[in-house]
Amino acid sequence: MAKFRTLDDLGDLTGKVALVRVDLNLPMQEGSVTDDTRVRAAAPTILELASKGAKVLLLAHFGRPKGEKVSTMSVSMTLDAVQAVLGKEVMFVPEVAGDVVKQAVSILRPGDIAMLENTRFWKGEEKNDPDLAKAIAANGDIYVNDAFSAAHRAHASTEGLAHILPAYAGRSMEAELKALDAALGTPVRPVAAVVGGAKVSSKLDVLTHLVTQVDHLIIGGGMANTFLAARGVNVGKSLCEHDLAATAEAILEAADKAGCTVHLPYDVVVAKEFAANPASLRTCNVHEVAADEMILDIGPQAVEALADVLKTCRTLVWNGPLGAFEIEPFDAATVALARSAAALSKEGVLTSVAGGGDTVAALNHAGVAADFTYISTAGGAFLEWMEGKELPGVKALETA
Ligand code: ADP
Ligand code: MG
Repeated sequence: MAKFRTLDDLGDLTGKVALVRVDLNLPMQEGSVTDDTRVRAAAPTILELASKGAKVLLLAHFGRPKGEKVSTMSVSMTLDAVQAVLGKEVMFVPEVAGDVVKQAVSILRPGDIAMLENTRFWKGEEKNDPDLAKAIAANGDIYVNDAFSAAHRAHASTEGLAHILPAYAGRSMEAELKALDAALGTPVRPVAAVVGGAKVSSKLDVLTHLVTQVDHLIIGGGMANTFLAARGVNVGKSLCEHDLAATAEAILEAADKAGCTVHLPYDVVVAKEFAANPASLRTCNVHEVAADEMILDIGPQAVEALADVLKTCRTLVWNGPLGAFEIEPFDAATVALARSAAALSKEGVLTSVAGGGDTVAALNHAGVAADFTYISTAGGAFLEWMEGKELPGVKALETA
């Protein structure tokens, strides 16, 4: 695994200014924060720096103001939530650079925390303009990046600053990088990947990368339909990208060459309408789907076989639900396989890492999120990592 400095490499910081990139892009409803998970993830880093005596300046984006000052997208909308999680007063500074920030720094005492304005109010942020990065850096002594979720962007606050100031990974960044390395970097084999979700087209790069990395590729969700159809199975009215048959075949061929076993379901749960517990609900072999039916989950026999596959593996990486889990009973396969993975993880025989918006929701719904080794809430950055891409924000933290 590439090397990067962490907070362990920092001694006393009394009077020093730490510029800390965090994720404060919090979900809001009617002006209040509805989920403070991201603040809780960043809190250990912020509080540790404060306890070392640093003056902590938080940097974050909020929404998509596209280089304009949009008052409804001020990051100060998150101030109450941040103060509540940290249990400390946080000063809001309506700039990211210049004299206003300088003055704020002079007022702060060691251990105090301030929140700078939405980095995306400045055009230089998304352009990764070195002048903006230099102007921000002028008021700081060190740079700490604790926002893995923004690391797939090469922006001034996520990438540029790391080249100007001594750069460190925050605690949540460090945990994420360690977990991802354990899952796909230098994993204990055999490794299984579960890839589900709606469409093959949105996860083509993920599939292409994974077949060269893992021993078992478990395909579920709507994308399994595309693979089944490519194999000549009649999938009826299922969500299916028939135009990607050749692509699906090519992925299966690449898997074969790489020695990766691909697991497609042999039984499925079907219905004629997409509704909770519909009258038309039935389970059948994949070859028995009627023309007016939709495959909405993989079947119980497939799940049992997959659970057996997981028992032979030491590492699991999971993105995408196995069925249309939002509606009962099409959550059954996802819940059952998640429980198997969680039990193996709890026993200590499986390292399990999962990510993706709907995946995290599905694992929470299954009540097993806490038993997984690591759950990434990073969304886009997690998927790009699953595609084998180098993340600029991570790359910039690496030391020679
Ligand atoms: P993530 O957000 O974790 O990356 P995706 O967004 O790729 O996951 O996929 C989640 C979506 O896939 C869910 O909305 C789910 O209903 C849908 N899905 C899964 N299986 C099927 C299926 N067989 N038919 C239709 N939609 C499905
Ligand atoms: Mg999704």
